[in-house]
Parts: sequence; C-alpha cells; structure tokens
Amino acid sequence: MSNRSSSKRAKGSGEEMVSVALKDIANLCKRRGFIFQDSEIYGGIGSVWDYGPLGVELKNSVKSQWWKSMVYDRNDIVGLDSAILMNPEVWKASGHVGSFADMMVDCKECRKRYRIDHLKESNCPECGGDLTEPRSFNLMFKTQVGSVEGQTTDVYLRPETAQGIFVNFENILNSSRKKPPFGVAQIGKSFRNEITTGNFTFRSREFEQMEMEFFVKPGEDEEWYEYWVNARFEWYRSLGIRKENLRLREHDKDELAHYSKRCHDVEYLFPMGWSELEGIANRSDFDLTQHSKLSGRELNYLDTSTGERYVPYVIEPSGGVDRAVLAFLVDAYRKETVKGRDRVFLSIDKRLAPIKIAVLPLLKKNGEIVEMAHRLRNELGGRYRVVYDDTAAIGRLYRRQDEIGTPYCVTVDVDSLTDGKVTVRDRDTMEQERVEASRLNDYMLERLPF
Ligand code: ATP
Repeated sequence: MSNRSSSKRAKGSGEEMVSVALKDIANLCKRRGFIFQDSEIYGGIGSVWDYGPLGVELKNSVKSQWWKSMVYDRNDIVGLDSAILMNPEVWKASGHVGSFADMMVDCKECRKRYRIDHLKESNCPECGGDLTEPRSFNLMFKTQVGSVEGQTTDVYLRPETAQGIFVNFENILNSSRKKPPFGVAQIGKSFRNEITTGNFTFRSREFEQMEMEFFVKPGEDEEWYEYWVNARFEWYRSLGIRKENLRLREHDKDELAHYSKRCHDVEYLFPMGWSELEGIANRSDFDLTQHSKLSGRELNYLDTSTGERYVPYVIEPSGGVDRAVLAFLVDAYRKETVKGRDRVFLSIDKRLAPIKIAVLPLLKKNGEIVEMAHRLRNELGGRYRVVYDDTAAIGRLYRRQDEIGTPYCVTVDVDSLTDGKVTVRDRDTMEQERVEASRLNDYMLERLPF
C-alpha cells in the first residue's frame, strides 16, 4: 500500500525508445493465448483478466524464478501461503480500514470517475464538464462470512498479501527457529477496487503479488534496506529487462505511506511511460506493533544470547506478478525484416519462455517422421513444456514459435530417418544446427537453465 500518488513520468528522452504499443501486446496476448478478458462472452468485467495456456506458463515461470531467488537460493527466507480472507481486525490494525483510500471526483456531465492524483486539470479531461468535490473511496472489496441472515460478519478480500505474514510472525518464529535477520516470502492473489483502470493488466482489480517481509534488528534496517533495493533491481536485470528501461525512484517524504520510513520503486518504461513494477519499503516496526496492540499478543523477538527483547523492523520488497509479466512481454517484443518479410519475435529469457521447445515434423504425411517427432517430444517433455506441432508449413510454424518466444525449434526431416540427426533452430539468431537425436536431451539441458 502506498499513499497512492501517481507515477511520475519520464523526464528524459527515453520514451521515444518504446517501440511497441500496449494494444499490440494485448492483441498478441489474445491471439496467441497469453491473456484474455475475463468472462468475455458476457461482455467482460472491468479490469479482470484470465491467463490462457501460454500466459499461465509465463506467469508460473515468473513466480518460480522469484521463489527460487527468494527461498531456494538462500537460507534466511522461508515461504508461506496464507488465506485471502482474514479476521477484519487485521485491516483495522494495518490501517487499511481507515486509510486505504483514493480521493476521487466524478464528472457532473459524463459521470466519469477520476483519481484526483491522476488529474492534471480542474475539469473533466474527457468532456470538459465540472467535477464534484473530492470524496474518499476505500479500495477494499467487502463480502460476508456466515450463512445465517443477520448473523454474518463483514470481511474483506485482502488488498495485499503482507498482512498474512505479520499475523503469522509468532507461528513462523516458533516453528522454523529462524532469528533476525530472516524473511518470509509469499505469492498470492490480492484485490483492489481500483477507480481508474486501463493500460491492459497494469492496474487490475484482481491481481497477484510477490511479497517478502524481512525482519531485522532495529538499527540494521538501513543497511538491509539498501541491500534489498539493489537486489530487487538486479533481479529484473538478471531476467533480461533492458537497462535503459529500468530505473529506481525514491519516494519523496510527502509520498511515503503512513507506515513507511523510506521507499524506492523499481520502475519500468512501459508504453504509457515510467510506471511502478515493485516497491521496496522500510516499514519500520509499524505492523508488528499495531498487531500487538490490537490482538493483545506480544509480537517481538527475544535474543537469548543477549537477553535483549525487541520488535523487529521490516524491509518489504512488494512486486506485482501481472506487472512483471507485462514488463517481460513488452521488453522482449522485437520486430525485424528478414528477406523482405516482417518477423515478430519475443526475445524473452529462456527461463521465462512459456514453451521451451517445439518439435516440428517437416513432412506430416510421412508416418516415420511424425513418429520420430512424437518420440522426441515425449523424451524432452516432463521437465518443461515441449510441444509437437504439425498444423502448418514449416515457415509458418517457425513464425508462430518466434512470436511466443520459444527458444528452440527441433525439426525432423527425411534425412533424420537415416542419419539420426535433427535440425535445431535458435529463436534469436535463426541459426540452425544439426544435432544427434540421441544427444538432444543433454543438448537442451545445457542450454535451458532453471
Ligand atoms: P499504484 O500506485 O500503481 O496503484 P501501489 O503503490 O498502490 O501501486 P503497492 O501497494 O505498493 O502498489 O503494491 C505493491 C505492488 O503490487 C505494486 O508495485 C504492483 O506491482 C502491484 N499492484 C498493486 N496494485 C495493483 C493493481 N491494481 N494491479 C496490478 N498490480 C498491482
């Protein structure tokens, strides 16, 4: 939760370098099965999206790369999967009931609604009409728990995953025997009834977050804060986001959320301008102190070696899965002309590519070629997504795989039946190499890291 101020736009000349419009990405996503409008056959529902067969693979890869870097690569962070519904007291303690709100205005003429921090003018940007006085609008979705009329309790769909970590602090401390500095990582759905939406999946009402709360001794917080700001920036870089499209921006004092001592955003140069991908905040001891007060449970840490008891400070990197997916798609999008024809390809990191290998028979009428191609698909599959495709001529099949970012195409031809070799084509260079089919598994293992 930030104090919801608008993203600052790029001041430099960087924007000219953006070559792909969001609508081209949205088209590709629909056509190829990455992202669909939710309940589209009924006219959809505002800013809710479904991930199709390729989208779910890409999203899972983004999440597993995050989990790997946060949990598997280290010994000081554990995982958690807490529930979406929580006791409503949680949201009083966290401040969400009181202040998780945007100030909004309505146009008196066309009824369009705006977030006041997104408006540059004093009249409706759409029709020029007069605007209402600003009103506060809470972004949490409310629902009821219980089945007996009159005896239900109002609860909220969580607007962030972080609170599930704070309320489990004691459970995790007691069961995992961790001591500060240590972290708890969680990936899960969050919900916000956003006033202004648009920009494809960038601002959705249902979305996923990847959040990690890192508990440290007060006094060591500044050092850890710097560490996580850099580590999170480097994570996006290590997965191939271009340097010129990524930047860090520190929040001004008046921009900071009520709990926040410092905050940096990792921003990406999306087609609509520099926008937040992730926030890294020093949340101080705000959340644990608040939950101690409202729950009556002392949430702190006793250092048995010194006898010192303290409420840990928290450094929080909080990223959006959907925004990361969108940034990886935009950043990977390439267009070039090859022998007078346009070629669109996604030069996405191999670890994120939804399909790693496509096995293609050159002649689908030749039963032996088809059989060999199926056999190779079965041998390569299992570890990652490998597809067999014979639904078009080879040129078309290559183009299809290029457009969805498949790093390798393996083609079986007539010669393969006698020399036991297949052609491996590289997505980015389009170079082709003959490889022994019996060596294909090892060949791919060397080239497709996890
Ligand atoms: P914004 O100012 O863009 O509304 P925020 O500062 O309120 O975002 P945080 O509360 O810091 O966002 O949430 C952490 C991360 O969760 C964001 O960096 C973003 O990646 C993701 N996120 C937040 N709201 C949305 C949303 N409506 N749709 C998609 N992702 C979101």
